[in-house]
Amino acid sequence: MSGFPADHEGAEVRVSPNFGPRREGARPEFIILHYTGMETGEAAESWLCDPVSEVSSHYLVHEDGAITQMVRESDRAWHAGKGSWRGETDVNSSSIGIEIVNPGHVLGYHDFTDAQIGAVIVLCRGIVARHRVMPENVLAHSDVAPGRKVDPGEKFPWQVLARAGIGHYVEASPIGGGRFLSAGDRGEPVEALQSMLALYGYGVEISGIFDQQTKTVVEAFQRHFRTEQIDGIADRSTIKTLHQLLSALPQSLT
Ligand SMILES: [Zn+2]
Repeated sequence: MSGFPADHEGAEVRVSPNFGPRREGARPEFIILHYTGMETGEAAESWLCDPVSEVSSHYLVHEDGAITQMVRESDRAWHAGKGSWRGETDVNSSSIGIEIVNPGHVLGYHDFTDAQIGAVIVLCRGIVARHRVMPENVLAHSDVAPGRKVDPGEKFPWQVLARAGIGHYVEASPIGGGRFLSAGDRGEPVEALQSMLALYGYGVEISGIFDQQTKTVVEAFQRHFRTEQIDGIADRSTIKTLHQLLSALPQSLT
């Protein structure tokens, strides 16, 4: 394919060969945000368009706010890999992927630029309007693949997006003392925590045992919703924030 008209007005099109059809009947219900985790935006763009990489995303947002579209929104890009959200395990078939240029935790994680965040907001607004994506379905890659992925990471300003009407967000409950749950704990409170995380969408087994999987899911939750401290310990602030998020969901989901 030599090109296609951009779905997002103003996006530059550079076609990636790394895509396929969405699973039959699947449509974009989710927006998954990533960081590129590479030295430069140019290197990331080349990699996402290289048949050898077998990865892609619908969009790439450069540090100056320029947007490149690589896969049509109607097609299935290869950005999320193995993961799950609210029982959906073919995340690629049911999402639109946005890569945001940032070297990431390994190569020198830094703040996203204002131009990038502005571009991500405008891009998300368009996608939400075109596909009627619900606010609670705008997610981090780390939300759908906890333990395996940490992007776009704790520096991503979800609060700024929320103020612009993108995503589902509540102010994190302040960190303080009180009881907490951590690795090795078991019993009803752990089961309740796991149930709340699963109800919100995270892929976590409800076992009543605070195991490694539970810890990584708590970390993923904190990386998105309580970024001040990411330690995998379900303290009162973490649990309260989760509770408030659940209360703020549309009734049909809870
Ligand atoms: Zn990612």
